[in-house]
This record gives sequence, structure tokens and C-alpha cells, in this order.
Amino acid sequence: MIIKNVDLDGQLTDVRLADGLIAEIDDNLTGLNMIDGHGGALIPGLHDHHIHLNGTAAAMNSVRCGPPEVTAAAKLIEVLNKPGSGWLRGVGYHHSVAGEIDRAWLDEHGPDRPIRIQHRGGRLWILNSLAMNELELSEPNNGRFYDADLHIRKTSSFPDLRPLIQKLLSWGITGVTEVTPSNSIAEFNHYLKNTAPLRVTVMGKAALSDLGHNQVGPLKLHYHDHDLPELDNLATEINAAHNRGRNVAAHCVTRAELMLTLAAIEQAGPLAGDRIEHAAIADEAAIDWMKKLDMIVVTQPNFIAERVDAYVEDVEPHDLPHLWRLKSFQDVGLKLAAGSDAPFGDPNPWKAMAAAVSRPSGFENEAISPETALALYTKPVNDAGAPARQIAVGEQADICLLDCNWADARRDLAVVNVRATWIGGELVYHLVD
Ligand SMILES: [Zn+2]
Repeated sequence: MIIKNVDLDGQLTDVRLADGLIAEIDDNLTGLNMIDGHGGALIPGLHDHHIHLNGTAAAMNSVRCGPPEVTAAAKLIEVLNKPGSGWLRGVGYHHSVAGEIDRAWLDEHGPDRPIRIQHRGGRLWILNSLAMNELELSEPNNGRFYDADLHIRKTSSFPDLRPLIQKLLSWGITGVTEVTPSNSIAEFNHYLKNTAPLRVTVMGKAALSDLGHNQVGPLKLHYHDHDLPELDNLATEINAAHNRGRNVAAHCVTRAELMLTLAAIEQAGPLAGDRIEHAAIADEAAIDWMKKLDMIVVTQPNFIAERVDAYVEDVEPHDLPHLWRLKSFQDVGLKLAAGSDAPFGDPNPWKAMAAAVSRPSGFENEAISPETALALYTKPVNDAGAPARQIAVGEQADICLLDCNWADARRDLAVVNVRATWIGGELVYHLVD
């Protein structure tokens, strides 16, 4: 296939794809199978380095219960009571909406359907009485379930991923890293079977190490402030993964989570490719330490835009400058990549890139250029720490074509449309025009 008239580094040219690769870049290429790029920028296909696919697919069939869509109790009651039947699944709840709601609150204000609402932190589900009956749960009496994901999911099978994958392709996404901590063999097989044509890496439990499959990603370490492991135990767990040649990827949102993880990785000895997920709060000491250990940081540029009001309210003022840093990471040469953390963040990478370039008032110091923002989403499938992929002869033809040239796109990445997406040279998405 030949893609005519594309913008490459400010020049109009043609690109030929063959055998899954970018085979030729030259002016005036001709052949049988041609598509007109109309002067749009041709860029590497995007990779979401941190996404929860099942959760995101389920969220597409869920009601939004928190900011920015829902900010008050009256609005929450309204969205819950929209017509519908069967299970009602809510996501993104935050206590700023209606306080610490519980089973009794949902029974009083919600419809006569089994309801489960997820707090946007991801750990808390709130169920009404019908939902608890359906799942044969009697405790806790207030219907607030922490870390009970598997329990609640027991009755439901995996969601249909197709609508989500179509959406991702339409944004120019050609690959994802699935990062859910509970991923085991069943989930791994589900993702391999149901994510085509995306390129996918699946991180998760230690059990995945046994598969020896090249799409198995790092061991996911997922500990929280309220029950952090002993340093020695964590170092032992990391060491065990490393001994099998497997990297670790550690969820680190708070200062304590990050500091403990870095100490444990230092004790075990870092392995090139180890990842820190989020690094939501990182002071200068933490940045130096991550750099010294050669960590890859996988950040979410979208959160600072999506959650700014709550951060200003909830985060200690002295920590506000340490929130979701980008430029400081970049300046010290930390290996950096990005992902949406959908369904907890918006899965649209263009909004996230725009948020990395134009940060909310008070957080502008950490803004980065559009080119740097793009590079966070164009790392290789299996190595978020490597340099960004390029449009060059011999590269895999995982690419996307924008509806405008890059000079226009970089002015506001949030409004960019993707005209077409290719994976391994196959056209997998094409905007009807
Ligand atoms: Zn996550």
C-alpha cells in the first residue's frame, strides 16, 4: 500500500508499506493500492502504556458518578434513576459528590435495580441491598467493599472488548499494556484472544511468569499505604521476579509507596526495564533516586487536568509542586512513558497529550512540548523506556495518519482527529470521509 501526500517533518511525501514494514519513503511513489493522506501528518501508532482493558470496556457501559460530569447529590440521583433494567454499574464516584454514600443511601435514592458504584480510586465498591442479595453477600452491612473486586466480579464474565478496541484504533492507538494486578492465566488468554488487531503486553501476577510468553509483561506490584509490606518481603518478591528474568512494575501513588518501592528495588538490585507506575508525588530526592536506579516512570498526564479541583483541596500544599511531574522527569533524563490508567482516567490519548502541554493554572511548570508529549505514547510495545519509535524505512508499519499537518496539530492536540490507523501494515481503521 502507498500512502500519498503525507506530512513528514514538515515535508510532503509518500510512504510505501510492504511486509508489515515501512518499505519506502519518497516523493511520487506509484502503485496499485493507494490512499491519499491529504497532507495529514503521518506519525507512529500510539501505545497506551497503562490501561485496564476489562475495566475500561465495562466502564463504557457504566454511568459516570463523579466529577466533572456529576458534582452534586441531586445530579447523582438523576443519573442513577435514568430508565434501564438489570445491573446498574456506576464509576468514578468521589466523596465530594454526596459524601461517604453507602448501601442505605443507594437503597433510598437509587432505582429498584442491583447497583454497584466504584469509587474513582478503584479500591472501593458501594453496593445497594439488591446487589448484595444477588451476590449473596451480607457483610459489610454498610455495603462498602474495599479491595473486593474478585468477589464482586465472580458472577460476571469478561466484558466484550470490541467496542473499546474500535475506539482505541480510531484514536490511532496500535498497542496497549494491560496492567491489572489480578491478571492471571485466564485473563492473559482472554486478552490474547480478544484484543486483535492491537499489539498487547499483559502484566500481572507471578503465575504469568510460568507461561514464558513474549507478551507477558512485568510482575505488577500493587501495595497501598494502609497495608504496605515489610521492606525485606518486598525485596524478596522483586528478587524472585528478577531471577526469572521478569521485570517489576510497581504502583506508587503516595510518597510512602514510592519510597518503600525504591528501597526494595535497591535492595534487590534493579533490573533494566523495571517500572514505577504513576509516581504521582515525587520530590527532588525521589527523582534522583529513580534516576539512580534507572527506573522507567509511566505517568498519566491526563490526571492533573481531570482531577485538579480535588488535588487542590486534598493534597498537602507543600506537595502540590510534586504532583504528576513531567518536565522535571524529562530534564534529569528519566525514562518516561505515559498511559491513560483508564477506566480511572480518560482513555483518549489526544486529551492526555494536550493536558501535558497545557497544564492547569498553578501546575504549568511541569508542562512539556507537543513533540515530547507525543513521544511518551510512541515507545515500543515491550519497552516503555526505549526511545520513541520513528517513521523510517525498516520500522514496523504501526502508524497513524492525522487529519491535519503536524504544525497545525501541535497547536491543540485535544482536537486532532485520526484519519487512518495501520498495524503491521494492515489498515485497521479508516475515517469515512
Ligand atoms: Zn492502573
